Amino acid sequence: MKRADLLKRTADLAVEFLEGLPERRVGPAGIPVEDLRAALGGDLPEHGEESLETIERLVRAADPGLVASAGSRYFGFVIGGHVPASLAADWLTSTWDQNAGLYATSPANAVVEEVAAGWLLEILDLPRTASVGFTTGCMMASFTGLAAGRHAVLAREGWDVEARGLFGAPEIDVVVGDEAHATIFAALQMLGLGRERVKRVATDGQGRMDLGSLREVLNGCPGPLIVCAQAGNVNTGSFDPLEEIGAQVRERGGWLHVDGAFGLWAAASPGLAPLVSGVQLADSWATDGHKWLNVPYDSGIVIVKDPDAHRQAMTISAAYLIQTEGRERDPFDYVPEFSRRARGFTVWAALRSLGRQGIGELVERCCAMARRFADRLRDEPGVEILNDIVLNQVLVRFTPPGGGDADAYTREVIARVQADGTCWLSGTVWHGMAAMRISVSSWATTEADVDRSAYAILRAYRGTAPRISPSSPNSG
Ligand SMILES: *Cc1c(COP(=O)(O)O)cnc(C)c1O
Repeated sequence: MKRADLLKRTADLAVEFLEGLPERRVGPAGIPVEDLRAALGGDLPEHGEESLETIERLVRAADPGLVASAGSRYFGFVIGGHVPASLAADWLTSTWDQNAGLYATSPANAVVEEVAAGWLLEILDLPRTASVGFTTGCMMASFTGLAAGRHAVLAREGWDVEARGLFGAPEIDVVVGDEAHATIFAALQMLGLGRERVKRVATDGQGRMDLGSLREVLNGCPGPLIVCAQAGNVNTGSFDPLEEIGAQVRERGGWLHVDGAFGLWAAASPGLAPLVSGVQLADSWATDGHKWLNVPYDSGIVIVKDPDAHRQAMTISAAYLIQTEGRERDPFDYVPEFSRRARGFTVWAALRSLGRQGIGELVERCCAMARRFADRLRDEPGVEILNDIVLNQVLVRFTPPGGGDADAYTREVIARVQADGTCWLSGTVWHGMAAMRISVSSWATTEADVDRSAYAILRAYRGTAPRISPSSPNSG
Protein backbone atom coordinates (compact mmCIF):
# COMPACT_ATOMS: atom_id res chain seq x y z
CA MET A 1 0.00 0.00 0.00
CA LYS A 2 1.19 3.48 -0.80
CA ARG A 3 2.15 5.68 2.12
CA ALA A 4 -0.50 8.26 1.26
CA ASP A 5 -3.23 5.60 1.34
CA LEU A 6 -1.98 4.25 4.65
CA LEU A 7 -2.09 7.70 6.21
CA LYS A 8 -5.54 8.47 4.85
CA ARG A 9 -6.87 5.17 6.15
CA THR A 10 -5.26 5.90 9.53
CA ALA A 11 -6.88 9.34 9.61
CA ASP A 12 -10.23 7.64 8.94
CA LEU A 13 -9.62 5.24 11.84
CA ALA A 14 -8.73 8.16 14.11
CA VAL A 15 -11.87 10.03 13.13
CA GLU A 16 -13.96 6.89 13.72
CA PHE A 17 -12.56 6.76 17.25
CA LEU A 18 -13.35 10.43 17.85
CA GLU A 19 -16.89 10.04 16.54
CA GLY A 20 -17.45 7.07 18.80
CA LEU A 21 -16.24 8.92 21.89
CA PRO A 22 -19.59 10.45 22.98
CA GLU A 23 -21.23 7.05 23.40
CA ARG A 24 -18.19 4.99 24.22
CA ARG A 25 -17.92 3.44 27.66
CA VAL A 26 -15.79 6.01 29.51
CA GLY A 27 -13.59 3.98 31.84
CA PRO A 28 -11.50 0.90 31.05
CA ALA A 29 -13.73 -1.79 29.54
CA GLY A 30 -12.58 -4.32 32.13
CA ILE A 31 -10.80 -6.55 29.63
CA PRO A 32 -8.49 -8.94 31.53
CA VAL A 33 -4.84 -7.96 31.21
CA GLU A 34 -4.05 -11.44 29.85
CA ASP A 35 -6.39 -10.83 26.95
CA LEU A 36 -4.76 -7.50 26.15
CA ARG A 37 -1.34 -9.14 26.33
CA ALA A 38 -2.49 -11.91 24.03
CA ALA A 39 -4.03 -9.51 21.52
CA LEU A 40 -1.00 -7.22 21.41
CA GLY A 41 1.74 -9.73 22.13
CA GLY A 42 3.11 -12.90 20.61
CA ASP A 43 6.59 -13.54 19.27
CA LEU A 44 8.63 -10.82 17.63
CA PRO A 45 7.71 -11.37 13.98
CA GLU A 46 10.53 -12.78 11.90
CA HIS A 47 9.30 -11.00 8.81
CA GLY A 48 7.45 -7.75 8.52
CA GLU A 49 3.90 -7.28 7.29
CA GLU A 50 1.99 -4.65 5.33
CA SER A 51 1.95 -1.38 7.30
CA LEU A 52 -1.82 -1.16 7.07
CA GLU A 53 -2.13 -4.65 8.53
CA THR A 54 0.00 -3.52 11.49
CA ILE A 55 -2.10 -0.40 12.02
CA GLU A 56 -5.41 -2.23 11.75
CA ARG A 57 -4.16 -4.85 14.18
CA LEU A 58 -3.09 -2.12 16.60
CA VAL A 59 -6.47 -0.40 16.44
CA ARG A 60 -8.36 -3.67 16.91
CA ALA A 61 -6.18 -4.97 19.74
CA ALA A 62 -5.69 -1.70 21.62
CA ASP A 63 -9.32 -0.60 21.48
CA PRO A 64 -10.65 -2.57 24.47
CA GLY A 65 -7.78 -1.21 26.56
CA LEU A 66 -8.37 2.43 25.67
CA VAL A 67 -9.92 4.91 28.08
CA ALA A 68 -12.22 7.68 26.79
CA SER A 69 -10.29 10.42 28.61
CA ALA A 70 -10.38 12.52 25.43
CA GLY A 71 -14.17 12.52 25.65
CA SER A 72 -16.56 14.75 27.55
CA ARG A 73 -17.46 12.63 30.59
CA TYR A 74 -14.05 11.72 31.97
CA PHE A 75 -13.70 13.38 35.37
CA GLY A 76 -10.87 11.30 36.84
CA PHE A 77 -7.64 12.83 38.18
CA VAL A 78 -7.15 16.14 36.35
CA ILE A 79 -7.11 15.21 32.66
CA GLY A 80 -8.15 17.48 29.81
CA GLY A 81 -9.12 16.45 26.31
CA HIS A 82 -7.70 17.91 23.11
CA VAL A 83 -9.07 20.89 21.20
CA PRO A 84 -9.23 20.03 17.49
CA ALA A 85 -6.50 22.41 16.25
CA SER A 86 -4.10 21.11 18.88
CA LEU A 87 -4.77 17.48 17.96
CA ALA A 88 -4.22 18.27 14.29
CA ALA A 89 -0.98 20.10 15.15
CA ASP A 90 0.10 17.00 17.07
CA TRP A 91 -0.35 14.86 13.93
CA LEU A 92 1.82 17.32 12.03
CA THR A 93 4.42 17.36 14.82
CA SER A 94 4.91 13.62 14.32
CA THR A 95 4.85 13.96 10.56
CA TRP A 96 7.43 16.73 10.50
CA ASP A 97 9.57 14.72 12.95
CA GLN A 98 11.68 17.65 14.06
CA ASN A 99 14.41 17.29 16.63
CA ALA A 100 13.53 20.36 18.64
CA GLY A 101 16.68 20.49 20.75
CA LEU A 102 18.47 23.22 18.83
CA TYR A 103 17.56 26.19 16.65
CA ALA A 104 19.69 24.53 13.98
CA THR A 105 17.59 21.34 14.03
CA SER A 106 14.24 23.15 13.77
CA PRO A 107 14.08 26.92 13.33
CA ALA A 108 10.30 26.67 12.97
CA ASN A 109 9.83 24.98 16.33
CA ALA A 110 12.26 27.36 18.04
CA VAL A 111 10.29 30.38 16.84
CA VAL A 112 6.91 28.77 17.58
CA GLU A 113 8.13 28.14 21.16
CA GLU A 114 9.26 31.75 21.39
CA VAL A 115 5.87 33.03 20.22
CA ALA A 116 3.86 30.60 22.37
CA ALA A 117 6.03 31.56 25.35
CA GLY A 118 5.11 35.22 24.90
CA TRP A 119 1.41 34.39 24.61
CA LEU A 120 1.55 32.18 27.71
CA LEU A 121 3.16 34.93 29.78
CA GLU A 122 0.44 37.27 28.64
CA ILE A 123 -2.52 35.00 29.34
CA LEU A 124 -1.11 33.78 32.66
CA ASP A 125 -0.13 37.37 33.48
CA LEU A 126 3.43 36.53 34.50
CA PRO A 127 6.54 38.70 34.07
CA ARG A 128 6.95 39.22 30.31
CA THR A 129 10.72 38.85 30.52
CA ALA A 130 10.55 35.37 32.12
CA SER A 131 11.88 32.36 30.23
CA VAL A 132 9.66 29.43 29.26
CA GLY A 133 10.43 25.76 28.66
CA PHE A 134 8.17 23.11 27.12
CA THR A 135 8.44 19.95 29.20
CA THR A 136 6.67 16.58 29.20
CA GLY A 137 4.39 17.58 32.07
CA CYS A 138 4.01 19.63 35.21
CA MET A 139 6.23 17.34 37.28
CA MET A 140 9.18 17.99 34.98
CA ALA A 141 8.21 21.65 34.88
CA SER A 142 8.49 21.74 38.69
CA PHE A 143 11.74 19.80 38.46
CA THR A 144 13.09 22.48 36.12
CA GLY A 145 11.82 25.43 38.15
CA LEU A 146 13.24 23.95 41.34
CA ALA A 147 16.57 23.25 39.61
CA ALA A 148 16.72 26.94 38.67
CA GLY A 149 15.94 27.79 42.29
CA ARG A 150 18.65 25.42 43.53
CA HIS A 151 21.08 27.15 41.18
CA ALA A 152 20.11 30.66 42.26
CA VAL A 153 20.06 30.24 46.04
CA LEU A 154 23.43 28.43 45.99
CA ALA A 155 25.02 30.88 43.53
CA ARG A 156 24.26 33.61 46.08
CA GLU A 157 26.39 31.62 48.53
CA GLY A 158 29.19 31.40 45.98
CA TRP A 159 28.46 27.73 45.25
CA ASP A 160 28.30 26.39 41.67
CA VAL A 161 25.91 23.47 42.07
CA GLU A 162 25.94 22.46 38.40
CA ALA A 163 29.72 21.98 38.49
CA ARG A 164 30.20 20.71 42.03
CA GLY A 165 26.95 19.02 42.93
CA LEU A 166 25.49 19.13 46.40
CA PHE A 167 28.42 17.46 48.21
CA GLY A 168 29.71 20.02 50.69
CA ALA A 169 27.24 22.67 49.54
CA PRO A 170 25.51 25.01 51.97
CA GLU A 171 22.30 23.32 53.13
CA ILE A 172 19.14 24.51 51.47
CA ASP A 173 15.95 24.73 53.51
CA VAL A 174 13.05 23.46 51.40
CA VAL A 175 9.60 24.44 52.65
CA VAL A 176 6.38 22.92 51.29
CA GLY A 177 2.72 23.02 52.26
CA ASP A 178 1.28 19.90 53.87
CA GLU A 179 -0.92 19.54 50.79
CA ALA A 180 1.86 19.75 48.20
CA HIS A 181 1.28 17.47 45.20
CA ALA A 182 3.13 14.14 45.14
CA THR A 183 5.14 15.28 42.12
CA ILE A 184 6.79 18.10 44.12
CA PHE A 185 8.29 15.44 46.37
CA ALA A 186 9.34 13.42 43.32
CA ALA A 187 11.05 16.50 41.83
CA LEU A 188 12.85 17.15 45.13
CA GLN A 189 13.97 13.53 45.31
CA MET A 190 15.49 13.73 41.82
CA LEU A 191 17.22 17.05 42.59
CA GLY A 192 19.09 15.67 45.59
CA LEU A 193 17.05 17.89 47.90
CA GLY A 194 15.32 14.93 49.51
CA ARG A 195 11.62 14.27 49.68
CA GLU A 196 11.65 13.80 53.45
CA ARG A 197 14.01 16.49 54.70
CA VAL A 198 11.51 19.21 53.70
CA LYS A 199 9.88 21.45 56.29
CA ARG A 200 6.11 21.30 56.15
CA VAL A 201 3.64 24.10 56.63
CA ALA A 202 0.22 23.31 58.13
CA THR A 203 -2.83 23.78 55.89
CA ASP A 204 -6.43 24.78 56.56
CA GLY A 205 -9.72 22.98 55.90
CA GLN A 206 -9.49 23.67 52.15
CA GLY A 207 -5.81 22.69 51.89
CA ARG A 208 -4.38 26.23 51.83
CA MET A 209 -1.07 27.04 53.52
CA ASP A 210 -1.52 28.60 56.96
CA LEU A 211 0.40 31.88 57.12
CA GLY A 212 1.14 31.75 60.86
CA SER A 213 2.57 28.27 60.42
CA LEU A 214 4.62 29.47 57.41
CA ARG A 215 6.12 32.32 59.47
CA GLU A 216 7.04 29.89 62.23
CA VAL A 217 8.65 27.46 59.79
CA LEU A 218 10.57 30.26 58.05
CA ASN A 219 11.87 31.47 61.42
CA GLY A 220 13.64 28.12 61.69
CA CYS A 221 15.23 28.45 58.22
CA PRO A 222 18.50 30.36 58.48
CA GLY A 223 20.10 29.28 55.20
CA PRO A 224 19.41 29.37 51.48
CA LEU A 225 15.68 28.93 51.07
CA ILE A 226 13.25 27.42 48.53
CA VAL A 227 9.49 27.52 49.17
CA CYS A 228 6.92 25.59 47.09
CA ALA A 229 3.41 26.99 47.03
CA GLN A 230 0.38 25.77 45.14
CA ALA A 231 -2.21 27.33 42.82
CA GLY A 232 -4.98 24.74 42.60
CA ASN A 233 -5.07 21.94 45.16
CA VAL A 234 -5.56 18.65 43.34
CA ASN A 235 -8.45 17.72 45.64
CA THR A 236 -10.26 20.96 46.43
CA GLY A 237 -8.95 23.32 43.73
CA SER A 238 -8.03 25.83 46.48
CA PHE A 239 -5.18 28.34 46.22
CA ASP A 240 -2.43 29.11 48.71
CA PRO A 241 -2.48 32.81 49.75
CA LEU A 242 0.18 33.73 47.22
CA GLU A 243 0.39 37.45 47.96
CA GLU A 244 1.29 36.90 51.62
CA ILE A 245 3.53 33.91 50.90
CA GLY A 246 5.34 35.93 48.25
CA ALA A 247 5.94 38.76 50.72
CA GLN A 248 7.26 36.42 53.41
CA VAL A 249 9.61 34.58 51.03
CA ARG A 250 10.93 37.87 49.60
CA GLU A 251 11.62 39.16 53.07
CA ARG A 252 13.89 36.11 53.56
CA GLY A 253 15.53 36.36 50.16
CA GLY A 254 14.21 32.91 49.25
CA TRP A 255 13.09 31.36 45.97
CA LEU A 256 9.35 30.82 45.57
CA HIS A 257 8.11 28.11 43.20
CA VAL A 258 4.40 27.76 42.38
CA ASP A 259 2.87 24.46 41.29
CA GLY A 260 -0.06 25.60 39.18
CA ALA A 261 -0.64 22.51 37.05
CA PHE A 262 -4.22 23.57 36.35
CA GLY A 263 -4.87 26.42 38.80
CA LEU A 264 -2.55 28.89 37.09
CA TRP A 265 -5.15 29.07 34.29
CA ALA A 266 -7.52 30.94 36.62
CA ALA A 267 -5.55 33.99 35.44
CA ALA A 268 -7.16 33.59 32.00
CA SER A 269 -10.58 34.57 33.37
CA PRO A 270 -11.14 38.09 34.74
CA GLY A 271 -13.64 36.67 37.24
CA LEU A 272 -11.27 34.00 38.55
CA ALA A 273 -8.00 35.93 38.35
CA PRO A 274 -8.26 37.18 41.97
CA LEU A 275 -7.59 33.56 43.02
CA VAL A 276 -4.01 33.88 41.74
CA SER A 277 -3.42 37.38 42.98
CA GLY A 278 0.20 37.72 44.07
CA VAL A 279 1.36 34.90 41.80
CA GLN A 280 3.74 37.31 40.04
CA LEU A 281 5.78 37.46 43.26
CA ALA A 282 7.10 33.96 42.63
CA ASP A 283 10.41 33.10 40.95
CA SER A 284 9.27 30.03 39.03
CA TRP A 285 5.97 28.48 37.96
CA ALA A 286 4.97 25.07 36.65
CA THR A 287 1.81 24.33 34.71
CA ASP A 288 0.40 21.95 32.14
CA GLY A 289 -0.73 22.22 28.56
CA HIS A 290 -2.26 18.75 28.62
CA LYS A 291 -4.70 19.52 31.43
CA TRP A 292 -6.74 22.72 31.14
CA LEU A 293 -5.37 24.05 27.87
CA ASN A 294 -6.59 20.78 26.31
CA VAL A 295 -3.41 19.98 24.40
CA PRO A 296 -2.84 16.26 23.70
CA TYR A 297 -0.29 14.47 25.90
CA ASP A 298 2.37 15.31 26.65
CA SER A 299 2.70 19.00 27.34
CA GLY A 300 4.03 20.78 30.42
CA ILE A 301 5.27 24.34 30.80
CA VAL A 302 7.92 25.79 33.10
CA ILE A 303 8.36 29.53 33.55
CA VAL A 304 11.32 31.15 35.35
CA LYS A 305 11.59 34.83 36.21
CA ASP A 306 15.40 34.83 35.92
CA PRO A 307 16.23 33.39 32.47
CA ASP A 308 19.88 33.17 33.39
CA ALA A 309 19.21 30.89 36.39
CA HIS A 310 16.92 28.82 34.15
CA ARG A 311 19.58 28.34 31.46
CA GLN A 312 22.41 27.76 33.92
CA ALA A 313 20.44 24.96 35.55
CA MET A 314 19.57 23.21 32.27
CA THR A 315 22.23 24.00 29.74
CA ILE A 316 24.25 21.34 27.95
CA SER A 317 27.48 22.09 26.17
CA ALA A 318 29.44 19.92 23.80
CA ALA A 319 31.95 20.85 21.14
CA TYR A 320 29.87 19.59 18.23
CA LEU A 321 26.72 21.54 19.06
CA ILE A 322 25.98 24.48 16.83
CA GLN A 323 24.56 26.96 19.31
CA THR A 324 23.37 30.41 18.57
CA GLU A 325 25.04 32.57 21.24
CA GLY A 326 21.70 33.98 22.26
CA ARG A 327 20.54 35.32 18.91
CA GLU A 328 18.03 32.55 18.50
CA ARG A 329 16.34 30.17 20.89
CA ASP A 330 17.87 26.76 21.53
CA PRO A 331 14.90 25.00 23.16
CA PHE A 332 17.04 22.51 25.08
CA ASP A 333 18.38 25.36 27.25
CA TYR A 334 15.07 25.38 29.13
CA VAL A 335 14.24 21.71 29.71
CA PRO A 336 15.92 18.61 31.14
CA GLU A 337 16.18 16.99 27.70
CA PHE A 338 18.52 16.92 24.72
CA SER A 339 16.86 15.49 21.61
CA ARG A 340 13.19 16.21 22.00
CA ARG A 341 9.75 16.37 20.44
CA ALA A 342 8.73 19.74 19.01
CA ARG A 343 6.30 20.45 21.80
CA GLY A 344 5.68 24.05 20.82
CA PHE A 345 3.35 23.38 17.90
CA THR A 346 0.44 21.94 19.89
CA VAL A 347 0.54 24.71 22.50
CA TRP A 348 0.77 27.36 19.79
CA ALA A 349 -2.22 25.82 17.98
CA ALA A 350 -4.35 25.61 21.14
CA LEU A 351 -3.60 29.22 22.09
CA ARG A 352 -4.18 30.50 18.57
CA SER A 353 -7.38 28.55 17.87
CA LEU A 354 -8.98 29.42 21.24
CA GLY A 355 -7.73 32.98 21.62
CA ARG A 356 -7.70 34.88 24.88
CA GLN A 357 -11.50 34.89 25.12
CA GLY A 358 -11.84 31.24 24.21
CA ILE A 359 -9.39 30.19 26.91
CA GLY A 360 -11.15 32.33 29.51
CA GLU A 361 -14.48 30.83 28.49
CA LEU A 362 -13.12 27.28 28.57
CA VAL A 363 -11.86 27.78 32.12
CA GLU A 364 -15.08 29.45 33.27
CA ARG A 365 -17.25 26.80 31.63
CA CYS A 366 -15.42 23.98 33.46
CA CYS A 367 -15.88 25.81 36.77
CA ALA A 368 -19.58 26.34 36.04
CA MET A 369 -19.88 22.62 35.25
CA ALA A 370 -18.20 21.78 38.58
CA ARG A 371 -20.76 23.95 40.42
CA ARG A 372 -23.56 22.31 38.44
CA PHE A 373 -22.27 18.86 39.52
CA ALA A 374 -22.29 19.96 43.16
CA ASP A 375 -25.81 21.39 42.82
CA ARG A 376 -27.13 18.21 41.20
CA LEU A 377 -25.66 16.05 43.96
CA ARG A 378 -25.97 18.03 47.19
CA ASP A 379 -29.78 17.99 47.42
CA GLU A 380 -29.80 14.24 47.87
CA PRO A 381 -29.97 13.39 51.59
CA GLY A 382 -26.80 11.49 52.54
CA VAL A 383 -24.70 13.16 49.84
CA GLU A 384 -22.26 15.79 51.05
CA ILE A 385 -20.00 18.17 49.12
CA LEU A 386 -16.79 18.47 51.14
CA ASN A 387 -15.08 21.43 49.51
CA ASP A 388 -15.88 25.01 48.55
CA ILE A 389 -16.22 24.90 44.77
CA VAL A 390 -13.78 27.67 43.91
CA LEU A 391 -12.55 26.10 40.69
CA ASN A 392 -13.15 22.87 38.74
CA GLN A 393 -12.74 20.27 41.52
CA VAL A 394 -15.57 18.68 43.54
CA LEU A 395 -15.22 16.32 46.52
CA VAL A 396 -18.26 14.21 47.36
CA ARG A 397 -18.95 11.89 50.27
CA PHE A 398 -21.77 9.38 50.55
CA THR A 399 -23.48 8.11 53.71
CA PRO A 400 -25.53 4.94 53.02
CA PRO A 401 -29.26 5.74 52.55
CA GLY A 402 -30.12 3.91 55.79
CA GLY A 403 -27.08 5.30 57.67
CA GLY A 404 -23.75 3.53 58.26
CA ASP A 405 -20.09 3.59 57.25
CA ALA A 406 -19.58 6.54 54.89
CA ASP A 407 -15.96 5.65 54.02
CA ALA A 408 -16.87 2.18 52.83
CA TYR A 409 -20.04 3.36 51.10
CA THR A 410 -18.22 6.19 49.29
CA ARG A 411 -15.76 3.64 47.88
CA GLU A 412 -18.68 1.43 46.92
CA VAL A 413 -20.42 4.27 45.06
CA ILE A 414 -17.18 5.10 43.20
CA ALA A 415 -16.81 1.45 42.18
CA ARG A 416 -20.42 1.33 40.97
CA VAL A 417 -20.01 4.52 38.93
CA GLN A 418 -16.82 3.18 37.37
CA ALA A 419 -18.57 -0.10 36.52
CA ASP A 420 -21.56 1.72 35.04
CA GLY A 421 -19.40 3.44 32.42
CA THR A 422 -21.50 6.59 31.86
CA CYS A 423 -18.64 8.66 33.25
CA TRP A 424 -15.40 7.95 35.05
CA LEU A 425 -13.95 9.41 38.21
CA SER A 426 -11.90 8.17 41.09
CA GLY A 427 -11.55 8.47 44.81
CA THR A 428 -9.28 10.23 47.22
CA VAL A 429 -8.87 10.61 50.94
CA TRP A 430 -9.56 14.14 52.13
CA HIS A 431 -8.53 14.92 55.71
CA GLY A 432 -9.04 11.31 56.71
CA MET A 433 -12.36 10.87 54.88
CA ALA A 434 -12.93 8.80 51.77
CA ALA A 435 -14.25 11.02 48.97
CA MET A 436 -15.21 10.89 45.33
CA ARG A 437 -13.19 13.41 43.33
CA ILE A 438 -14.69 15.04 40.25
CA SER A 439 -12.51 17.20 38.02
CA VAL A 440 -14.04 19.04 35.07
CA SER A 441 -11.13 19.87 32.77
CA SER A 442 -12.33 19.14 29.23
CA TRP A 443 -13.30 21.73 26.64
CA ALA A 444 -15.96 19.26 25.46
CA THR A 445 -18.00 18.81 28.67
CA THR A 446 -21.55 20.16 28.35
CA GLU A 447 -24.41 20.67 30.80
CA ALA A 448 -26.01 17.55 29.37
CA ASP A 449 -22.83 15.57 30.15
CA VAL A 450 -22.90 16.80 33.74
CA ASP A 451 -26.61 16.01 34.17
CA ARG A 452 -26.22 12.55 32.69
CA SER A 453 -23.20 11.86 34.90
CA ALA A 454 -24.82 13.24 38.07
CA TYR A 455 -27.82 11.01 37.33
CA ALA A 456 -25.50 7.98 37.02
CA ILE A 457 -23.83 8.91 40.33
CA LEU A 458 -27.18 9.25 42.13
CA ARG A 459 -28.34 5.94 40.64
CA ALA A 460 -25.16 4.34 41.99
CA TYR A 461 -25.71 6.01 45.36
CA ARG A 462 -29.29 4.79 45.72
CA GLY A 463 -28.59 1.43 44.20
CA THR A 464 -31.77 2.04 42.14
CA ALA A 465 -32.94 4.39 39.43
CA PRO A 466 -33.46 7.82 40.98
CA ARG A 467 -36.91 9.39 40.93
CA ILE A 468 -35.86 12.45 39.01
CA SER A 469 -34.93 12.07 35.36
CA PRO A 470 -31.81 13.73 33.98
CA SER A 471 -33.90 16.19 31.98
CA SER A 472 -36.24 17.27 34.78
CA PRO A 473 -35.51 20.63 36.36
CA ASN A 474 -33.58 20.28 39.57
CA SER A 475 -33.56 22.61 42.51
CA GLY A 476 -30.33 24.47 43.13
C1 LIG B 1 -1.35 16.88 37.62
C2 LIG B 1 -0.64 17.67 38.64
C3 LIG B 1 0.77 17.64 38.73
C4 LIG B 1 1.60 16.74 37.85
O1 LIG B 1 1.47 17.10 36.50
P1 LIG B 1 1.91 16.10 35.34
O2 LIG B 1 1.60 16.89 34.13
O3 LIG B 1 1.08 14.89 35.51
O4 LIG B 1 3.36 15.83 35.50
C5 LIG B 1 1.38 18.46 39.65
N1 LIG B 1 0.66 19.24 40.46
C6 LIG B 1 -0.69 19.30 40.44
C7 LIG B 1 -1.42 20.20 41.37
C8 LIG B 1 -1.38 18.51 39.51
O5 LIG B 1 -2.71 18.55 39.46
